[in-house]
Amino acid sequence: MNDGKIAAKTCTALGAAGHTLESYPVHEVNLGSLRVSRALPVRGWRLIGPWCFLDRFGPLTFHDGTPMDVAPHPHIGLQTVTWLLDGEIVHDDSLGCEAIARPGGVNVMTAGKGIAHTEQTPAKNSGRLNGVQLWVALPEAHRHMDPAFESSVQVPAIEQPGAFIRVFAGSPGKAASPCRHYSEILGMDLRIHAREETEVNLNPRFEHAVLVLEGDCLMEGQSLEPALYYLGTHRSSVCFGSREGSRGLLIGGPPFPEAILMWWNFVARLPEEISRARGDWESHLRFGDVPSYPGQRLSAPSLIRFARPNPAS
Ligand code: MN
Repeated sequence: MNDGKIAAKTCTALGAAGHTLESYPVHEVNLGSLRVSRALPVRGWRLIGPWCFLDRFGPLTFHDGTPMDVAPHPHIGLQTVTWLLDGEIVHDDSLGCEAIARPGGVNVMTAGKGIAHTEQTPAKNSGRLNGVQLWVALPEAHRHMDPAFESSVQVPAIEQPGAFIRVFAGSPGKAASPCRHYSEILGMDLRIHAREETEVNLNPRFEHAVLVLEGDCLMEGQSLEPALYYLGTHRSSVCFGSREGSRGLLIGGPPFPEAILMWWNFVARLPEEISRARGDWESHLRFGDVPSYPGQRLSAPSLIRFARPNPAS
């Protein structure tokens, strides 16, 4: 194997030394019949804290079929975090865990040394799909751990003047999201009330980013476009407002101290780790099966082909 030919991408922290305000356009990706907006990695393959991947899907309505149908596929070295605004997704994995993600709850899958899973719109559904999927890079001390799956049907909420906030990752103030992470992290869903303003406290050691999900959002008085806004570090708060009401995502964490290597559904450090994981998946080793899935599993792309991370997976 000529590892020099692996089309993996190195991602490093943006890690601004102070406040900044930079916007990075999201780009649209087709996932079968599902249209996805990819916000992370941003241009230059950068992470925000330990967050290395962010896909936005929906909002959409459907009358038949299952818009999300991701066949069995493997992951290493990351956690997936699924957060829904509407609709439902059923997760099945090679540990035998099955869980339905619904609005207000979070699903966190820790791939560690290897797991396989599927994500599907369940047969019995609301006809709506609207949410995000994020990936968290695991730090060196934990990236080879045994895989695990956790879910919470209702994450903590913070009610404050101008906003209703749900904390789906991390523990800002007294609100601790229940699922385990292995780096300091923040993941919040902000509902900004119409014609109101709200100030959100931030950890100045963290870098943060904001993505508007719905409605019109003002941040520090600036009207936000459909883009990922990077705030840098050294901020103790950020102020939001809205004319008609808005919903947005605020993510963050200390700048990730390690450069990671991303290829397809794998987060690693060395090209050899990626080629070994790919070989194990193709040889039906390491990752296990998801026997409940009725169809074929996904095949890994060629190592030398540029492979975007598997969207919404
Ligand atoms: Mn996946």
